[in-house]
Amino acid sequence: MNEILVLAEHREGELRDVTFEMLGKARELGEASGQAVTALLLGSGLGDMAETVKPHADEVLVLDHGNLKQFNSAVYQPVLADAIKTREPGLVMIGHTAFGVDLAPSLAVALELPFAADCIDLAVEGGTTKATRQIYEGKVNATVSFVDAPTVLVTFRPSAFPVEEAARAGKVTELTIDVPEEPAVRKFLEYVEAAVGDVDITKAEVVVSIGRGLREEENLPMVEELAESLGGVVACSRPVVDAGWLPKDRQVGSSGKTVKPKLYLAIGISGQFQHLSGMKSAETIVAINKDPKAPIFSAADYGIVGDLTKVVPALKEKIAELRA
Ligand SMILES: Cc1cc2nc3c(=O)[nH]c(=O)nc-3n(C[C@H](O)[C@H](O)[C@H](O)COP(=O)(O)OP(=O)(O)OC[C@H]3O[C@@H](n4cnc5c(N)ncnc54)[C@H](O)[C@@H]3O)c2cc1C
Repeated sequence: MNEILVLAEHREGELRDVTFEMLGKARELGEASGQAVTALLLGSGLGDMAETVKPHADEVLVLDHGNLKQFNSAVYQPVLADAIKTREPGLVMIGHTAFGVDLAPSLAVALELPFAADCIDLAVEGGTTKATRQIYEGKVNATVSFVDAPTVLVTFRPSAFPVEEAARAGKVTELTIDVPEEPAVRKFLEYVEAAVGDVDITKAEVVVSIGRGLREEENLPMVEELAESLGGVVACSRPVVDAGWLPKDRQVGSSGKTVKPKLYLAIGISGQFQHLSGMKSAETIVAINKDPKAPIFSAADYGIVGDLTKVVPALKEKIAELRA
């Protein structure tokens, strides 16, 4: 009850941002409610991951076992269930990632835990835990409360919280839990990295992103020229990929890539949460949209209300002028 347990997520030897995002939220909740923050690190050949996590938690539970080499929820779930039964945390936090989506529901069923998925916030008010989830494609935030239980389980949308600096001195504890073999019906075969095309939008410092507001493919060169004048790359929202104007590896968002450039220009993009989750950590966001009520303006540092076919050429001209 006196503990918040955060499942650390890593892929191909690297801890994922969602781990530190959740640990930051856990520290905030823990400070308000007097609960300690514990990170649970499962895997094989974890190297110095526990050292990296230590400053972010009061305790880091580590289970380094050959059967945990690759993520397989059929193996991870009973291990996690065992840790939860032993530790009895008040709250278990898991990322709402491909990994968490696979793992959390069956864990909730196995342990009969109250469960809220894909949350963007959590608060404890007067001893009651309340989670915030988005519904109706992000147009409405719903508050969810839980039935009384010693432990509740919540998955959190990546990028819901910032990654904060931390300076705790987490104690590292090695766990001894029986780890099952992969069952024959569900085996890990291979890890396949999504193809990176001729341009890797995740590495660019300037990303000029276009959405359905572009209206037709013929308008694409105008945006490409703007990107070139800024030394950036062109990315897009999903409808642009669906229309076949740009390849899938240029898509930003929950089913595309996550980018963190210095500058993100969102042009003719409404700002649905599936898109925002892939770009909201950009240092500076500039939105161009003809609708002043477009949700993208809430995420933007600077907004230009106007028709992109007029604003983009004007911007390009101004940049050329400044460069000259
Ligand atoms: C499971 C799932 C996963 C998804 N994954 C992703 C994802 O990874 N990435 C993603 O982007 N989406 C994703 N989506 C789709 C997402 O829900 C939205 O539909 C999508 O982001 C909308 O793209 P958009 O903003 O380009 O288009 P729209 O929502 O149609 O917005 C177009 C915008 O252009 C503006 N506009 C129109 N004409 C002009 C003009 N002349 N000048 C200026 N502005 C103009 C409009 O005002 C509007 O705001 C996903 C959806 C689901 C269900």
